Amino acid sequence: MIVVIKSGTPELEINRICQELSNTWNVTPEKSAGKHKIIIGMIGDTADIDPLLIQEVSPWIEQVLPVEKPFKRVSREYCHGEASEVTVPTPNGKVTFGENNPVVLIAGPCAVENESMIVETALRVKAAGAKFIRGGAFKPRTSPYSFQGHGESALGLLATAREASGLGIITEVMDTADLDMVAEVADILQIGARNMHNFSLLKKVGAQDKPVMLKRAMAATIDDWLMAAEYILAAGNANVILCERGIRTFDRQYTRNTLDLSVVPVLRSLTHLPIAIDPSHGTGVSALVPTMAKAAIAAGTDSLMIEVHPNPAKALSDGPQCLTPDQFDKLTQELAVVGKAINRWEIAVPVLT
Ligand code: PEP
Ligand code: MN
Repeated sequence: MIVVIKSGTPELEINRICQELSNTWNVTPEKSAGKHKIIIGMIGDTADIDPLLIQEVSPWIEQVLPVEKPFKRVSREYCHGEASEVTVPTPNGKVTFGENNPVVLIAGPCAVENESMIVETALRVKAAGAKFIRGGAFKPRTSPYSFQGHGESALGLLATAREASGLGIITEVMDTADLDMVAEVADILQIGARNMHNFSLLKKVGAQDKPVMLKRAMAATIDDWLMAAEYILAAGNANVILCERGIRTFDRQYTRNTLDLSVVPVLRSLTHLPIAIDPSHGTGVSALVPTMAKAAIAAGTDSLMIEVHPNPAKALSDGPQCLTPDQFDKLTQELAVVGKAINRWEIAVPVLT
């Protein structure tokens, strides 16, 4: 339930309303000030509360809106119907993810394999316009016999790539025990598809400050996914980006997953959180990545995450879906055409010499 307060309401009265809501209905009121209005979110079991009774609490209440969905803090209404932004400081400056900002490009290998490959890839994707380098240090692999990532030493290599390129780092945290170590290097913590339901991990990343990219589990409904995000926000961290990476469907003959681009307009109506699309895991086939990346921008994504490897044929994981740096260069030129057409592309400022 959301209580919209009239503009100009005295602070004392807002506090009185909060107090009364909490005393009478045993809910936790959460005040949030938007550009034009103040709203109070009622956190708790509000299913049986009559909105008319709440309306009577104060003449300063403009409207009482029931939130029918189980998620509250992630709901669009909770942010006054507007989109929220996630701003991430990087050595090259702040980068903002959000509906009213240019599309943010994230690129890099599936896993960090060695220093030269991660530094080389970082410099190449930066030159093509990426703002973040991705790369797994801890890899969630289907088989225990597949390459599991180099772990802590790979985090050191990501730090080197950050220093060399000035790009922000996004890397996956798989285990609560590794969180502090990963958060020391990462500018954005990735929660992978396989861990979207790991509620202890969600609570832990919610209780720290680094922004989180939450990938959709392969069989998660949109409500499941938003409830997972709700865990992070409920624990105190509102800096969450939702990343669609393809879901499991019956046909896996030509694609690894089915990239669900319809989530973009659906999420827009349900949540204020920024959206990212990962066409690499979404298709599993490098030849399909450019088409789906362009489609994702046209659909309105706020960010794209694309796997790029200097030599995909030799990659230790996910080679078949990785682009080469040259292919990524070409792709960003194509993406720019679509991005500019919808006014979502950062226009490079020429360097004056
Ligand atoms: C990844 O991005 O490295 C990854 C493992 O993806 P997902 O969790 O979507 O499978
Ligand atoms: Mn991968």
